[in-house]
Amino acid sequence: MAGASRLEPPNPPENRIRPLLLIGPPGAGKGTQSRAIGKAFNIAEISTGEMLRDALRHGTDLGNSLQSTMESGRLVPDAVVSSLVEHRTAEPDSQLGFIVDGFPRNVNQAEFLDRLLSSRRQPPALALLISVNRDQLMKRLAGRRECPVCRTAYNIYLNPPQRDDLCDHEGNGLIQRPDDRPDAVVRRLEEYERQTMPVIAHYRNAGQLEEVDGNGTAADVTAAILRILKDR
Ligand code: AMP
Repeated sequence: MAGASRLEPPNPPENRIRPLLLIGPPGAGKGTQSRAIGKAFNIAEISTGEMLRDALRHGTDLGNSLQSTMESGRLVPDAVVSSLVEHRTAEPDSQLGFIVDGFPRNVNQAEFLDRLLSSRRQPPALALLISVNRDQLMKRLAGRRECPVCRTAYNIYLNPPQRDDLCDHEGNGLIQRPDDRPDAVVRRLEEYERQTMPVIAHYRNAGQLEEVDGNGTAADVTAAILRILKDR
């Protein structure tokens, strides 16, 4: 939990890249970019939403206690996600660097992360803000589907499967995340504006923010991020 004693990662190597944080509204493509950048640098890809959904799928006590909060599009308690991030970033594959998608989502979480990195004598994080216009966001969220077996992502408007509603690889029926339904999407966008937008100011004021235009294709956005990282 947030106040628990710090986990100390083993002897950090000198040549790691600074921790990267992806910030942006739901539907901005943070998950896609996290996977692309994680692979490009061979660093750990950390998604708090994915870790929480795993807990839900496995029916753990944690998952069961958070299910209704997550499905309605609200944020889960800071102590829960902060603890997940503290443990995950102490694992061996995070020691050369890591990219986080979905954390921090509010200023309290950002301050927790800043303290954690400084207590571990790690470099300060670099936040990458992915901006996408509202129309594009709504299309991405409303059209998003995934295969429940191999987790391949589709979009029925922008990247449809070959056969309607069926996974190209598994042939399974595609599913919609409960929090991609319209009422939950509205709540997630509200949570973003109220809680996460102040995180942008937090990192901007600290000189730790870069902005990326997220309206292009996934490959365009990855290329833009890689250009920024070359200069930082
Ligand atoms: P995501 O996949 O990042 O959109 O996250 C899905 C859901 O998990 C969110 O709507 C929240 O309920 C929860 N969640 C993920 N990350 C956080 C976080 N950093 N703080 C609070 N709740 C989170």
